[in-house]
Amino acid sequence: MTLLRLTPVRTSPDKPTRRPAPPRHLADLDSAGRRSAVAALGEREFRAGQLSAHYFGRLVRDPAAMTDLPAASREKLANDLLPTLLTPVTEQACDGGATRKTLWRLHDGALVESVLMGYPDRVTVCISSQAGCGMACPFCATGQAGLTRNLSTAEIVDQVVWFAGEAARGALPGCPDRLSRVVFMGMGEPLANYNRVRDAIRRLTDPAPDGLGLSQRHITVSTVGLVPAIHRLAEEKLQVTLAVSLHAPDDELRDELVPVNQRWKVAEVLDAADAYARQTGRRVSIEYAMIRDVNDHPWRADLLGRLLSGRLAHVNLIPLNPTPGSRWDASPKDVEREFARRLRAAGVTTTVRDTRGREIDGACGQLAASAEAT
Ligand code: SAH
Repeated sequence: MTLLRLTPVRTSPDKPTRRPAPPRHLADLDSAGRRSAVAALGEREFRAGQLSAHYFGRLVRDPAAMTDLPAASREKLANDLLPTLLTPVTEQACDGGATRKTLWRLHDGALVESVLMGYPDRVTVCISSQAGCGMACPFCATGQAGLTRNLSTAEIVDQVVWFAGEAARGALPGCPDRLSRVVFMGMGEPLANYNRVRDAIRRLTDPAPDGLGLSQRHITVSTVGLVPAIHRLAEEKLQVTLAVSLHAPDDELRDELVPVNQRWKVAEVLDAADAYARQTGRRVSIEYAMIRDVNDHPWRADLLGRLLSGRLAHVNLIPLNPTPGSRWDASPKDVEREFARRLRAAGVTTTVRDTRGREIDGACGQLAASAEAT
């Protein structure tokens, strides 16, 4: 049963009507918060640990399977602390079943997507941090529809826990059964939903039973370059990988491709990335979607090479995934190779991203659930 906790709806004429908050969930709370929530239900506090061990450790959410809890308490605890947050609407697979995209409906009807990718040595999930996105990058499908709302911490975490359960049940043949990596590269700008994303990272990396016990180093947060938030993330002393969506080495073009560049320029973004690398010792990933005749010129490769050489950064070239209605296309392979060659000649490590999920519109920048729904 889904419990909806409706917050009072404000009706003041000058304020937009607020959406009801998502139901509170175990994954929204730290361990002290869980203990007091359990106590408030009239249960012994240690039940919080048992419930967490089911959800995070055994990936179980069905109260009937929680046999170490007294039968009388199971339903009450699960109804209150494990409400249904994500309801699968559609599931699509490609790459021989190794890539799966799920469209979820949230409690208020908002839609988000996540993508599970299995490899012989690892299982990665690409998750959403917001329904829609407010950053308006013109080549990105999510950016076209605008922002619907921030996801709650638990709505973010539950995408991972759900897929961890799928992987554990052997959903990806030929792949490990343990989900090990998370990338915040689905819908939304994670650093624009800062506190909830940070708390989600804690839940994902806290050891069981408090959390899922993933390695911080196996979590990647991708950002358009919200400079103050990058500095703030560096202060958290987390070991997560930062990816910066640069897409252009010059402000003139970046102002267009990543409109938030009008606020924080290339130099400031790279300085923030540097500060992050210095504080965490983690190499920053510079994301660069290769767009034919737009940002793929040899001189831009050389300029990017000069900007990055000597920094603790590497470049990840992403073949553009053309989105409906966009006038842009991916760069030809020979242009991409020359771009990569020039970067490497400047001493910058460069890789080309694989394009998992293209046929199911599940690759980078293709997630557009809210647009589909309207
Ligand atoms: N808002 C964050 C995370 C979401 S997108 C960010 O911008 O970093 C994850 C990556 O996919 C980003 O690097 C984004 O720029 C890139 N991307 C967006 N649209 C794309 C497209 N059509 N083709 C290839 N990459 C795209």
